[in-house]
Amino acid sequence: MTLTIALSKGRIFEETLPLLAAAGITPAEDPESSRKLIIGTNHPDVRLVIVRASDVPTYVQYGAADLGIAGRDVLIEHGGAGLYQPLDLNIARCRMMVAVQNGFDYDEAVKHGARLKVATKYPKIAREHFARKGVHVDIIKLYGSMELAPLVGLADAIVDLVSTGNTLKANHLSAVEHILDISSRLVVNQAALKLKYATIQPVLDAFAAASADNRE
Ligand code: AMP
Repeated sequence: MTLTIALSKGRIFEETLPLLAAAGITPAEDPESSRKLIIGTNHPDVRLVIVRASDVPTYVQYGAADLGIAGRDVLIEHGGAGLYQPLDLNIARCRMMVAVQNGFDYDEAVKHGARLKVATKYPKIAREHFARKGVHVDIIKLYGSMELAPLVGLADAIVDLVSTGNTLKANHLSAVEHILDISSRLVVNQAALKLKYATIQPVLDAFAAASADNRE
């Protein structure tokens, strides 16, 4: 029975390699250099499909992939329908933060009930966060380079992922609120888990054991 695992290129792929190795799976090619979207492995029955990070839950939801690895941010925005989420892999860790231009008095604006323009790739997370705080916001959906928005007057604040903080710093922005800790999770198609249990369970066990090392 073929097992298809959906992954995105970059940090998630690199940090998943040791987990795949623990499950005895070695990709036949590097997706960074190969242009292939379906990558075989040393296992005749296991293949990887390379998709955009935000598309991973969709491939798994509809069963085009049995397993996938996606950030908590992506899973919250997707909503998780049809997905079983058994494992936090503790990889690709970062924080979802609110950030503003240096000098913008965020606390003062919030205290005075100002209506804030917030640019983000994560409208659901942003909307829920500000609703919890009772802050009125207009959400402006962007697909990248959120850091630019406050600099050119598109938004008062951004909601974005922060890892080292270097991108904020380079663009004269400061984090003012921590919304969520983010890491990547393993997701499984609910029907596949039942139908392919014997194939999937050993992979889950190997990933669980190997990802325990990522926990501090
Ligand atoms: P940094 O400069 O290290 O704080 O990284 C911030 C930039 O990298 C922002 O543009 C983020 O959207 C992106 N980023 C940081 N961590 C992650 C992650 N785990 N997954 C996806 N994007 C990330």
